[in-house]
Amino acid sequence: MTENDPSNETYDVAIVGGGVVGCAMARRFALEGARTVLLEKSSDILSGASKANSAILHTGFDAPSGSLELQCMQAGYREYLEIHGRMNLPLLRTGAMVVAWNAEDQHKLAGILAQAKANGVDDVEMLDPGQIRAMEPHLSRAALGAVLVPGEHLIDPWSAPLAYLQQAMAHGAQVRLRAEVRQGRFDGQAWTLLTTQGRLRARQVINCAGLFGDLLEQNLLGQSSFRIMPRKGQFVVFDKAAASLLGSIVLPVPNERTKGIVLTRTVYGNLLVGPTAEEQEDRVHAGLDGATLQSLIDAAVERIPALAGMPVTATYAGLRPASEKKEYRIQADPERHWITVGGIRSTGLTAALGIARHVYSLYSQQHQHVAVSAPTWPQVPNLAEHLPRDWQTPGYGEIVCHCELVTRREIQAALASPLPPGDIGGLKRRTRACMGRCQGFYCGAQVAELSASQLAVPLATGRCHEQH
Ligand SMILES: Cc1cc2nc3c(=O)[nH]c(=O)nc-3n(C[C@H](O)[C@H](O)[C@H](O)COP(=O)(O)OP(=O)(O)OC[C@H]3O[C@@H](n4cnc5c(N)ncnc54)[C@H](O)[C@@H]3O)c2cc1C
Repeated sequence: MTENDPSNETYDVAIVGGGVVGCAMARRFALEGARTVLLEKSSDILSGASKANSAILHTGFDAPSGSLELQCMQAGYREYLEIHGRMNLPLLRTGAMVVAWNAEDQHKLAGILAQAKANGVDDVEMLDPGQIRAMEPHLSRAALGAVLVPGEHLIDPWSAPLAYLQQAMAHGAQVRLRAEVRQGRFDGQAWTLLTTQGRLRARQVINCAGLFGDLLEQNLLGQSSFRIMPRKGQFVVFDKAAASLLGSIVLPVPNERTKGIVLTRTVYGNLLVGPTAEEQEDRVHAGLDGATLQSLIDAAVERIPALAGMPVTATYAGLRPASEKKEYRIQADPERHWITVGGIRSTGLTAALGIARHVYSLYSQQHQHVAVSAPTWPQVPNLAEHLPRDWQTPGYGEIVCHCELVTRREIQAALASPLPPGDIGGLKRRTRACMGRCQGFYCGAQVAELSASQLAVPLATGRCHEQH
């Protein structure tokens, strides 16, 4: 433990965890006028569950009716649509199709349509095989029918939380990286938190620690009301040439445990297949295995035959912070000035802004602040292919990563930004350098050189693909 908080300030709120939920939380509390600090144990934000997902902004059409998850997803969805333009966040309206590939699935389509309507998603419609073919000519003719959900979108899963946190910082929120909360003591008024960057005081703690949320509570509260059960999802990313084979997000008919294997484009212009749903004990490592990845490729080729032989650009895996219940585990303990935001398993990217609003409404039953009257709207750089990229604007200078067309200017801007990357993973998420076909084989050395003295965890080898 190092020295005390140099500012000697007592924050209104300490948010533990810099995943998408913590970043959205920091934004909401800062906009509401609370003195906010976000504590993240890694050298960069988005280093846990939020670093690897499918990047779908869900309508909530298939979420359990009446659930808090549905409420937060739909609030988050609405707010993203409302604010994305002001922060330069991409939004690609692709729509989704829940496709029946066998008779059993086909029988479930009417129920899926009815549930969507019950959830207030009214623009859904049933498609017959001819309509599917007209919309998605490359999809296998084995598709027996589908429910079309026009409101499903694709977003950039990394620039969104970055923008949320930058807006929070613009309104005074502090961010401490490499600040793992190890211990804490509540004296009836405020918490003293002991972190790996020192000690600080905050009247309220909000636990957004994702895959470690239950352990944080065991440490600081003596017990946790939920148990994290990490659920791994492996993905295969096909080459950019594959993206033209698909317009919509193709979802399977889901089962009890998972939404199943999805085929989707990404805003970066790839085609993605995944994720799997595999329970594991390990909360940190999301290992890949060849047999599973091959089964994903096989499933993708079965559904889109023209994918046969298409090169694979990358493979990756993420861990969902699932708990022993399906529902989000959000609850306030006003006596101990603690709010738990746990078990945000597979919809947190969509729901984050809605979760933050819900949590603020719990908090505001005890505490009030004066909200910011005229928020500033920091803009984040665009990395989506359907919008102008830096290399398409004059004066970009030099392209460093030729696979993803990342300019030197973009890398330098990320390193000089208000929330610069702390490690190569963060630099990749902010610029897409090293994330293309060669996975940093050609540009890694130059990226390492450009960032050498500026990352808290420098890229040692010059080979981007060795650090994620
Ligand atoms: C395979 C997969 C696909 C998904 N697809 C989608 C999708 O398409 N759409 C969608 O909406 N959602 C999707 N999700 C869900 C979404 O990614 C998660 O719900 C979300 O990332 C959870 O975020 P979080 O902030 O709760 O947790 P995390 O991202 O894990 O953040 C928690 C943070 O807390 C930090 N931390 C932990 N302990 C401490 C401590 N003691 N002190 C300080 N810091 C600490 C961690 O380092 C971490 O950065 C998907 C998830 C996965 C895994």
